[in-house]
Order: sequence, then structure tokens, then C-alpha cells
Amino acid sequence: MHDKSPIYLDHAAATPVDEAVLAAMLPFFTEQFYNPSTVYLAGKATHQALEEARAQIAFWIGARPSELTFIAGATEANNLAILGVAQRWPDAKVLASSIEHESVLEPVMSLRNHALIPVDDRGIIDLSALKDAIDDTTVLVSIMAANNEIGTVQPLSEVAAIVAQARIDRLQRGIEMPLYLHTDASQAANYLDIHVNQLGVDLMTLNGAKTYGPKQSAVLYAQAKVEFTPLILGGGQELTKRSGTENVASAVGLAAAITIAQESRRQEFVRLHELRNYLTDQLTVVRPDIMIHGHRKHCLANIVSFSVPGLDAERAVMMLDELDIQCGTGAACSASKDKPSHVILALGHDEGVANSTLRFSMGRATTKAQIDEVLAALSKILTSPHVWRAV
Ligand code: PLP
Repeated sequence: MHDKSPIYLDHAAATPVDEAVLAAMLPFFTEQFYNPSTVYLAGKATHQALEEARAQIAFWIGARPSELTFIAGATEANNLAILGVAQRWPDAKVLASSIEHESVLEPVMSLRNHALIPVDDRGIIDLSALKDAIDDTTVLVSIMAANNEIGTVQPLSEVAAIVAQARIDRLQRGIEMPLYLHTDASQAANYLDIHVNQLGVDLMTLNGAKTYGPKQSAVLYAQAKVEFTPLILGGGQELTKRSGTENVASAVGLAAAITIAQESRRQEFVRLHELRNYLTDQLTVVRPDIMIHGHRKHCLANIVSFSVPGLDAERAVMMLDELDIQCGTGAACSASKDKPSHVILALGHDEGVANSTLRFSMGRATTKAQIDEVLAALSKILTSPHVWRAV
């Protein structure tokens, strides 16, 4: 046993709550515990804190506060965006990329009328396939801002231009069916500009759990014109879009987390981008046959996904864990289901490659010294006969 803390390289799965975020949240568990719907003064103050949190996030994304719905996590936000729109426009078609997170893919695939748009071998959406797939019955296109497994950043403004053109074509032909663009920006807020007009989106999911905020904290932005049916009915909170007594501590924490993330995003992007380049270069020194996934340029600064032919990735994760290094094989949820990653398969690879993939996702605490330790540990475990799959 030793007292050195582990090296954490799984920030795409979870981020620790920032201390300033925690400090902002704490009063709402104790002295400001009130239900924000109550009419006495203390309850009104809690309500005001909730609205200030909403306004703060609205500022960072360039939206009106009334367009933001606080909701219990990005999974729920994605479900509301997709199933909410689909219920409002039954039988209309919904499109998504083939490498979306399960919280987008599963609701999309539950719809009778849907299609998945392929990506290239770096994870970039096939724009001409998207264009072809949009027809007069399509109501929603959902394309993630940045992928959680390989870090690829999608060309959202080009997607938005295709969607806008389809809308104009429809208008000219007198077709009234709306066409909305949703993005799951769960992994993006730490590194990218998330202004909705810049991205050209009508709906957007933000995720506190990946942004050094609390778990199950999220907002769904939906532009005022977007019509969707609420999925959770009850007391009519959140302008009836998501009933249930508001979690003010969570909302305040999310606002603080998004603020810190957006204020530090440029600096963190540059710092981690440099570390990412160093890590990917050194990985190819460790193993020249290593395959780095994702786009070299259009990528998040913190995610490095790679495969080593023949590697038993799950065993490698366990061996790294024994050396106090925590990382993943891909998305934490599919890894726990023992399924090959749908993202790696969508890039055109086989199950063998998917099962030999590791994901290192860096974060605010990651240093070059840690990366050097990780590289040394990886070189060491790759010499073990136990880490290779039997062929
Ligand atoms: N979307 C993306 C891109 C994610 O990475 C995740 C979590 O890994 C989610 C959605 C779902 O987030 P949560 O599990 O916090 O609801």
C-alpha cells in the first residue's frame, strides 16, 4: 500500500465536483432548502437562486432563460428532446448519427420512423448521407457536438446549414412540418464554444456530470419555437416542461460548473491539446502498431482513444488499475454491458479492434508527469503475456 493518489484518466466518464461548485451548492441543502414554489419570503429567495442559475447558463449559451429546462441529467434531457418532439409530431422521422451516446440512440431507435447517419473512419458525420436522409417527414436531427469515446468534434455549423436549407425548401413548397436540430453537448462545455446561435442548433443538452458539476444535473435548451410534449407530468414546474420539485442545489451547481468551464475553456483546450499531442506521439513510440481513433484536428483536447492489435483491453484496464491508473475501454455504460463499442464499430472496425480499445480522458488535474507515468506503466503491462487475447 502507498499513499499516492491514483492517476485519473477517465474524465469522459465522470468529473469530480469542483470545490467552488460544491461551495455554491451547500447552502441549498441546509439553510436555503425551501421549495422554490412556495410564497413566503424564504421560498422566494430560493426561487430567485434557481432563476439566477438559469440566467447564468442562458448567458453562456446566448439564449433566453425561459428556453432552458433544468432536468435530472443528460440522459433525461436527450430523452426529452427526442421523445418529446417525436410525441408532439407522431410518425415523423428522427435522424441521428450512428455514434451518438446511448441516451440519444436508444430513444431514436425506439421510434418507428428513424434513420442513423453513418460517419467516416474518423467519426465525422457523412454530410451528403444526412442531406439525402432528410425528407418532408423529418422533424428532428440529433448530432452530438463531440463524441465521448473518440473525442471527434462534429461540423455542426455545416449540419445546421443543411438543416436550414431543407427548411427553406419546405417553406417554398408550403410544407409546414418543422425541422429541428438537437445537439448533445455533454462533453463539449469544458472545451468548446456552446453559444446556440454559433452552433446553429434549436435544442441542446448540457451535462453537469462531465463539467465538474453534480451528477444528474443538466439543462435542455429548446428555442422558444420548438414544440415538444413533456414526458414527466405532475406539478407543472419548469413551465410544465419537466414536472417535479426543482433541485435548486443541482441547478446552482450546474450554473457554477458551466461558468467555470466556459471561463477556463480556451486555456484548458491549449494546455490539454499539447498534452494530447505528446501522449499520442509517445503512444506510437510505445507501440508502432497502435491505432489512434478519432479526428486529429477536429477533436476534444482531452480524449485519446486507441487500439493495440490483440490487446485484451478490459484486462489492460484492470492491470493499469493495479498500478493506480484509472482509465476506460470506451463509454463506461457500454463497457459495463460487455458489448463491443458501437462507436468503434461505426468507424468501420471489427469487434477485435473494439475489444482492444482503451480510452484515456484527461482533465483539469492531469499533468505531463502523470502522462509520463502512464506511458511507463502501459509499456510495462504490454510486456505481460496476460494482457493479450488468445487467437
Ligand atoms: N451524452 C454523452 C455524450 C455522454 O458522454 C453521456 C455520459 O457519458 C451522456 C450523454 C449521459 O449522461 P448521464 O449519464 O450523466 O445522464
